Amino acid sequence: MSNDAQDTATDLTAPDPTAADPAATDPATPAEDALRSRIRAEVTALRESFDAGTTRPLEARLAQLEALRRGLRREEPRLARALAEDLGKSRTESALTELGVVSQEITHTMKNLRTWQKPQRLPLGAMLAPATGELRREPLGTTLIIAPWNYPVNLTLSPLVAAIAGGNTAIVKPSEVAPATSAALTHLLRTHLDPAWVRVIEGAVEETTILLEQRFDLIFYTGNGTVGRIVARAAAEHLTPTVLELGGKSPVFVDEGTDLAITARRIVWGKFTNAGQTCIAPDYLMATPRTVQRLLPHLRKAVRALYSGRPERSLDYGRLVSTKHFDRVLALIDDNKTICGGTADADRETRFIPPTLMTEVGWDDAVMGEEIFGPVLPILTVSGPDEAIARIRAGEKPLTAYVFSPRREIEERFAEETSSGSLALGLTLAHVGTTGMPFGGVGESGMGAYHGRTGFEAFTHAKPVVKKPLAPDTLKLVYPPYTGLKRRLLRRLFR
Ligand code: NAD
Repeated sequence: MSNDAQDTATDLTAPDPTAADPAATDPATPAEDALRSRIRAEVTALRESFDAGTTRPLEARLAQLEALRRGLRREEPRLARALAEDLGKSRTESALTELGVVSQEITHTMKNLRTWQKPQRLPLGAMLAPATGELRREPLGTTLIIAPWNYPVNLTLSPLVAAIAGGNTAIVKPSEVAPATSAALTHLLRTHLDPAWVRVIEGAVEETTILLEQRFDLIFYTGNGTVGRIVARAAAEHLTPTVLELGGKSPVFVDEGTDLAITARRIVWGKFTNAGQTCIAPDYLMATPRTVQRLLPHLRKAVRALYSGRPERSLDYGRLVSTKHFDRVLALIDDNKTICGGTADADRETRFIPPTLMTEVGWDDAVMGEEIFGPVLPILTVSGPDEAIARIRAGEKPLTAYVFSPRREIEERFAEETSSGSLALGLTLAHVGTTGMPFGGVGESGMGAYHGRTGFEAFTHAKPVVKKPLAPDTLKLVYPPYTGLKRRLLRRLFR
């Protein structure tokens, strides 16, 4: 099925699709009943294997991670073909931003899991002495991973690595908007992983809605905030914790005195990788009028250097995922303001939009009204860092903020005075590829984080375990009656 046929689920700008819930009034059809029964059976099977303790032993977790690594290697050609079909991703870009990231996550996790799993000693203080305390990481149970389409392999499997590492079972729901990759992932997981650990449910709104009716012990959702709210609401019904990896407009500020040639290359790469369909792609650029004038030739040059003068022929330049997204992004381009790319060269048939730079953009222009999520970079002038900081603070908290400045004090001001999921100084995008840094949003850009140890922590409960010998019975001190001596002793203890 084409991506367009599938891409009916989410409109980033559409009103909340739960506003009117047809299921509340219409009786379920036999097909819906059958789907609901199938989904319930899958969740029940995973819960049973979790309850049986299948996923607890460290060696079993390592074996599943190894199976995933093997599967990833074996299915690499199939996954790469699917990514090319869905998003026009080149094999190298797929290796770099999808499969490579997952492999690295698996290797890092396998190397460190034993250490992460070790109970940590807790200092308990004089009040409880003699006693020992430790923090144990216990699995949460049966988890649900709902993935988006833009990095469909990476964003489906990286959370799964953390789920397995934590000793959980998982239902995986790949995105229907990247149907070829959804099918390839399903094949990979069903062929290489144990169904006692991981099961896949493919599908769109109907399937996800039924999934969300079930009780899970964690829901890990990546996608837009409208659906994020639907997920959070459904999770509240069962008091299920959620990790919400959302998006938003990630700003870039380029300060005076920065090396503009390198800065331009880094911004262009971050913006136009995957044709701009990256949650942390630089969404818009701010600089003083003087810096903008100096930066523009470098930006144009960087576009040519990375994607040639004919990006439609570059094997390294991607395509929009569907005509729906093609139409949405094209409508944001104002050809009177483009200095590179624009609508004239776009091709709906192949869902190609060239790398597009727009200048003299106003804060109220359409392109500033929503997350662009496509290959369009609006450039806005500001009076300096003060205004850039004020603009960021006036909007929702971004997933990432980018600053290119030669001045330490300016970097520090952005770190202290703005809030975002992460702050990247002097680079774009690459920070998301490291296992050493938590990745997640804040406020409107999400809650919770993962990658490396943080992922393991997201998929486990930190359980304090305390032990105190029965003798001597030092707790006698806190039992009534509270005599003068006890009161004096307690006062000393709590000082
Ligand atoms: P999408 O359309 O694939 O939706 C994500 C998931 O939600 C899919 O599995 C889909 O089936 C499900 N879904 C869609 N509508 C639903 C509904 N009504 N009820 C229940 N489930 C539903 O992907 P998207 O949301 O278009 O992804 C793009 C957004 O995701 C952007 O905002 C981007 O910034 C964000 N994103 C964030 C991260 C991150 O790590 N923070 C990564 C990638 C994308």
